[in-house]
Formats: sequence, structure tokens, C-alpha cells
Amino acid sequence: MIERMFDSVTVVGAGLAGCEAAWQLARRGVRVRLVEMRPLVMTPAHHTSRAAELVCTNSFKSDVPEVAAGLLKEEMRRLGSLVLSAADATRVPSGQDLSVDRERFADRVEAGLLEAGVERVAGELTAVDTEQPTIVATGPLTSDALARELQRLTGASNLHFYDAAAPIVFAESLDQGELFRASRYGKGAGNYLNAPLDRARYGQLVTDLVAAEQVVLHDFERTMWFEGCIPIEEMARRGPETLRYGPLKPIGLDDPRTGRWAHAIVQLRQEDAAAGLYNLVGFQTNLSWPAQRRVFRTIPGLAHVEFARLGVMHRNTFIRSPDLLHPTHLLRGSARTWLAGQLVGVEGYLESAMSGLVAGLNVAASLAGSPEIVFPDDTAIGSLVRYITTPQKLFAPMNATWGLFPPLPVIQGGPRLGKRERAAAHLARARASFDAYVDPRDWLTAPPA
Ligand SMILES: Cc1cc2nc3c(=O)[nH]c(=O)nc-3n(C[C@H](O)[C@H](O)[C@H](O)COP(=O)(O)OP(=O)(O)OC[C@H]3O[C@@H](n4cnc5c(N)ncnc54)[C@H](O)[C@@H]3O)c2cc1C
Repeated sequence: MIERMFDSVTVVGAGLAGCEAAWQLARRGVRVRLVEMRPLVMTPAHHTSRAAELVCTNSFKSDVPEVAAGLLKEEMRRLGSLVLSAADATRVPSGQDLSVDRERFADRVEAGLLEAGVERVAGELTAVDTEQPTIVATGPLTSDALARELQRLTGASNLHFYDAAAPIVFAESLDQGELFRASRYGKGAGNYLNAPLDRARYGQLVTDLVAAEQVVLHDFERTMWFEGCIPIEEMARRGPETLRYGPLKPIGLDDPRTGRWAHAIVQLRQEDAAAGLYNLVGFQTNLSWPAQRRVFRTIPGLAHVEFARLGVMHRNTFIRSPDLLHPTHLLRGSARTWLAGQLVGVEGYLESAMSGLVAGLNVAASLAGSPEIVFPDDTAIGSLVRYITTPQKLFAPMNATWGLFPPLPVIQGGPRLGKRERAAAHLARARASFDAYVDPRDWLTAPPA
């Protein structure tokens, strides 16, 4: 329970994360200055000076709790999210998705901030005052000057400017019988799953990649193709053998069924500690999502694969959160600087707002001398926060997905659960866990007026 009036907090960036963080603080009696550079300085994607501008689609994805994004909404609603209440109030028909009228959505968010007494300040922040409680939530298009400041605070190699992520798939949807486990030349602990392709299947994959539909990049994203970050379809276009001498090279990988190297190999690398997710090594791509599903399911062992996240290549400023961020969103080594939103490696409007919510709650708790707010790993919020703050080799930004939840208990001799049954089991466990965490902490759901 919070008992005193707080000092002021600076929140930088009036996007999805910043507005949510500011609201969560202000409704708990904290004085908030919300600093936003638009319209004085525009990003390449925003068109207005509105708070919480949706830069692309008007959809917050699925609103059914049997989908991880739907459960995340449910949890955020319980925590009084401003972004969710504004979205609910301005929804437009779109089946099972939560989609909004973007102008009315921005109206609602701005009205909420005003009502809560958030002070709006126009200007580009270029230096972080580490003595002043500050949440930096400047998003995937953080201004250049502030990006340099973040590099200074976190180390140059810890700030990324592009997200070129390969698709990530659920391990349980792979046909393991068609794959074999091995590391190249037997080095390492055999951490890779390998999908062998013969000459005909390799040739077909190259043809399919070249012919598949691509997403059109924004002008500001075209500089992304430095070597080492080339989409798989572009490599395929450079010649029929390019992939076989690149990410699909078969050397050093003995196929136990033939005792030989295959014509080409697609490798899958473990993505999370629980081995529930694997990524397709070297398959960063600009292909459209339907094209990715169609083409990648032609790879042996992937015929029925379910995707936790499809490949993306886009401009995205984000830090290496697994090394830099506490689950409370406090920057490691700092006492008063929190980061939130897409900047910490969550992906999407909803997930960015969630991250702002977690940072806002934790700053409020910290100012009040209350314990940290860290949601259980098996909730939608907790699973995503745990993912972005758990050490891992190659960090890829992530959206809410069941694949991030701890594995379900295995019932010896029990039937193998189907996709729906697994979702139902995750949902039941998550709800129980969320209630057990939140119910004794009424400050989370019903802050004092
Ligand atoms: C082109 C593009 C399209 C996207 N499309 C989608 C989509 O369709 N669906 C989806 O779910 N996600 C999408 N995303 C991803 C992402 O979820 C959104 O960008 C989301 O808005 C991120 O929320 P945020 O609060 O972290 O950042 P933002 O919403 O971008 O908010 C950050 C704010 O900080 C401000 N700012 C930046 N630097 C400074 C500074 N130095 N001082 C003061 N203010 C500053 C910016 O002007 C901005 O208002 C897209 C991203 C991009 C770049």
C-alpha cells in the first residue's frame, strides 16, 4: 500500500509504452512529465503529434483468451490499462480481433492522461538525467541523439538498430522423425536440429523462395541490407548454389540415416531455455507472412509446423535486455533509469503497452519503497518479461505467445495434448497464477484515489 505523495517522474516518449507507464504512475498519485518530440521532430513512421499514434495497422490482434495475445489483454484489463480501456471503448468490428478507430483511440488516451493530471512536455530528450526517476520509452524509431545517449549508457554493442529475425517455431509441432540432432563436425553438444534436403527438394526450395511474395520495405528501412543481414530470398536470387554454400551448407553434418552429408541442410537452433522454441538459422526474411507459412512448411520435418513468430526485417531500435534489464525494467547498474516498450525487445503495440505498464508499476513501487512487481512466469505478462530478461545467446524481439510459457506438466501415460488443449491448459494455469499474485496486492488493480 502506498502512503505518501511521490516525487515527479519523467517519462520519455508518448507512444504506447510511455502513455501506459505515465497513466499507471499518475493514477497512483505520482507527478508525471511526459516528454514527446513530435511534432517538433518527427519519426519516419509517425504522421501526427497525437499520443499513442498507431503507426501501421489499427489492430491489437486477437481478443480471445485461448490465444496468448488475448490472455495478455485480459491481464492488462485487470490491471486497469489505459491503452486497453481506450481500445475497448473505440473498437471497430474485426471478428475475434481487437481493432480500433485510431483517431478516437488517440482521443481516449489523451483524455485519460489529461484526467490523471499527466503534464505533457514538447521536446526531444537527448540526455538522460540518471539522478531523476525516468522511464525511457522512445520506441523502435528513437531519435538519433537519444540513441547515441543510450549507447553511452548501455555500451555501443548493446543497442540494435534493425531487427532481422528468422522465424521461430514451436518444438512440439516439428516432426522430429524427419530431423536429426547434431552439431557441425560433432563440435558442441548437438544443440541443432537438422533438416536434410536432397537435390530436388533443395532446388524446389530455392525456386519457391525466389518466386514468393515479399513485403515492401519503407524507404528508411532500405539501408538494412548490409552483408550478414541479407534476406534468405535475396540470397536465393543470387544463384542456385548460394544457399548451399551459405546458411544451408551441409558440411560436417552426418545424416545418421545415410551416414553421409545431405545435399543441403536447414538448421534449427534452440531459442529458449525450456527448448520449447527453435529458430530457423539464417532465415531472416522479407517474405509476406502467408508466403513464409507456405514455403517453410515444405522443409522436411516442418510440414505441420506452428510459428511462434514469423520472420521480420525492419527498422527497430532495441537494447540487449537479457544483459541489461531487470524484470522490473530498471536498467542494470542504475538506480533511477527504467526502459520500456519496443526499446526493450518486446514486439507489437500490445506488448509495448504491457511493458510500459510493468515499468510504471515498478517505478511507483520503487518510489513508495514497496516490493518489486514481477509477475509469475506462467502468466502472459510474466512469460514475456522473463523471456526478454533471461540470458540468451542471440536475442530476438518477441511478441506474446504460448511458446514462452513454462512447459506444461507431463502426465505419464496420458494422451498427447492437441493445440487447443495445450492452450486451454496454459490459460487455466495462467489465470490461477495471475489471481494468486494479484489478489493479495489490491494496489495493483485498485490503486488508492
Ligand atoms: C513502421 C512500423 C510499423 C509497425 N507496425 C506495427 C503494427 O502494425 N502492429 C504492431 O503491433 N506493431 C507495429 N510496430 C511495432 C511497435 O509495436 C510499434 O512501433 C509501437 O508503437 C511501439 O510502442 P513504443 O511505445 O515502444 O514506441 P512508439 O509508439 O513508437 O512511441 C515512442 C515515442 O517516443 C517518441 N520519441 C522518440 N525519440 C524521442 C526523444 N528523443 N525524445 C522524446 N520523444 C521521443 C516518438 O516520437 C514516439 O512517439 C511497427 C513499428 C514500425 C517502426
